[in-house]
Amino acid sequence: MLKNCIYMPTNENFEKIISYILEKKPKTKAKFDDFRRKICASLKICQPSNQKLLACYHKMLKEGSVEQSKLVEHFLIKANIRSMSGIAVITSLVKPFMCPGKCVYCPTEVRMPKSYIASEPAAARSLRMNFDPYDLMQGRILMLERNGHPCDKIEYITKGGTWNAYKLKYQYWYILESFRACNNLTREIPTEKTTEEDWNDKSISDLQKAMDIEQKYNETAKHRIIGITLETRPDAITPKSIYHMRRQGCTRIELGLQAPDDVILKLVQRGHTVDQFRKAILLLRISGFKVDLHFMPDLPGTTPDHDIEMYESLFSDLSLRPDMVKIYPNTVIPSAELYQWLLDGRYKPYGKEGLYRALLAMKLATPRYCRISRLIRDIPSDEIKAGNIITNLRQELELTLKKTGQKCVCLRCREVGRQMKNISTDVAPQIFVDEYDTIGGREYFITLEDPERIAVFGFLRLRLPYCYPGQKAVPARRIGGDSKDPQASITKAGDSSTSVPLCSTSAQNDSYVSKIEKDQLDKLLGLGDLDKVAFIRELHTYGQLVKIGMQGSTESSQHKGLGKRLMAEAEKIASKNKFKKIAVISGVGVRGYYEKLGYEKCGTYVAKELAI
Ligand code: SF4
Repeated sequence: MLKNCIYMPTNENFEKIISYILEKKPKTKAKFDDFRRKICASLKICQPSNQKLLACYHKMLKEGSVEQSKLVEHFLIKANIRSMSGIAVITSLVKPFMCPGKCVYCPTEVRMPKSYIASEPAAARSLRMNFDPYDLMQGRILMLERNGHPCDKIEYITKGGTWNAYKLKYQYWYILESFRACNNLTREIPTEKTTEEDWNDKSISDLQKAMDIEQKYNETAKHRIIGITLETRPDAITPKSIYHMRRQGCTRIELGLQAPDDVILKLVQRGHTVDQFRKAILLLRISGFKVDLHFMPDLPGTTPDHDIEMYESLFSDLSLRPDMVKIYPNTVIPSAELYQWLLDGRYKPYGKEGLYRALLAMKLATPRYCRISRLIRDIPSDEIKAGNIITNLRQELELTLKKTGQKCVCLRCREVGRQMKNISTDVAPQIFVDEYDTIGGREYFITLEDPERIAVFGFLRLRLPYCYPGQKAVPARRIGGDSKDPQASITKAGDSSTSVPLCSTSAQNDSYVSKIEKDQLDKLLGLGDLDKVAFIRELHTYGQLVKIGMQGSTESSQHKGLGKRLMAEAEKIASKNKFKKIAVISGVGVRGYYEKLGYEKCGTYVAKELAI
């Protein structure tokens, strides 16, 4: 509340605020907030909500009394960076159900799916709506749209326990109703919503058929689901579960490892080993998925130094190297078994100082190709009996790094939306290719960045399986020959090293995935021999965000077609390495985009023949 806030704002005040802000042309959100504060103080009114200001702005636009400003529009939208990039992230939880895991730190609330507590924001919403996927999806879209967020591209995150532990019928029904909810919002004649029980006497294939219809419709619907993330355990990943998750439209998997140390995994009763995780990530990579690995510092049996060491091994171990990580420092919740350990002295967190030091080191150890998507879990502090309670930990860490002249180069920190103020408005993005090996293949992390590599305008993940057609097997090597250096070898596009063939011994691959499993995948996924397919595992551009941030710049036209440039580079690298086929793990709502680039639906993917 403002010191001078005396009156409640009127419609006339709204117009004055909008006109003042537009006249000032703020370039950053901080400046926008500043101007907003100043005008409200001079009018002696309380600050109105962005929602009201946005409605007034739209009215004024319609009347022609102001000119459009995309930048101000986006400051008015209570947007996070993801929605500024034109993508609405919608999260919903599955119903309460058991999980095969017995992890001692995992909260257990009867009315919630395993590992979630009712006071977390997405959990509270899901509970209110009785975990109904249709209502949750529609409710969220309508709410976001009311607040000015566009919802034409939806990244859908389904959370709760272990996805594959739920009955297959439930999984298909949940996804079916999520797609239906999107489609029905603008469908001329909405199709009828179903309940889980409606499918009791029907088969999986009936559900698949119904889901296929909704997915086909969604390809051209107003509210398109462009990607689905599912959360599961490594020991639930098999060729069959991969097949089903692909059919459901899944493009990314969140996979809990927590600690790459079998002694700790046993102590906390994870119920799987590090090798099982290695196998899961390899199966998923072979199938083109992106993997978001969960890492948990401060578990029983560790120290800050051991946590740092384990985290570094995520990137030096060729069998791990995740695309994204969620770092969730351990916290003790009363409903978890760990609470008893805390009470009887079997567990003691290592303290704020140790945690802070470990997290700083983790940020610095993260390579460019990996995105730290979360740094703490959104648990209200009054639920936490021990462990981290600082909610703005990420900002604090960033400030410390800045003060000491250090930088986190993880993908998230370099996204152009966060770096706009550090680059010139007329910068022309250029292509960089970071290469790194993983068991079973070589990864090409292709980015469009400013020449100083401060900001990423778009990126693509290309995987070339080992034993390229016509190449002899050679032993895999670690990046830069230094296992401690997590940074990939960096080359610009066109550099000849992007075509150096590199092949692991097949024994390395077979130690985690058997020939039978690989053959199963080949058969189930419908792409033929996956060893012969170059895979685009992710394509993401921030074109809209750039357009907004660089409004008025004569160079903004250079930021058009970022995706096409990245795709062309990936195809060039694949061709150079003699791949005749390239596939994309496309979300349902973006199939049309790839079709325009000459790709055709192939199984649940889109693919294209390459000229070599
Ligand atoms: S696997 Fe995940 S959801 Fe299941 S008990 Fe362990 S932490 Fe909880």
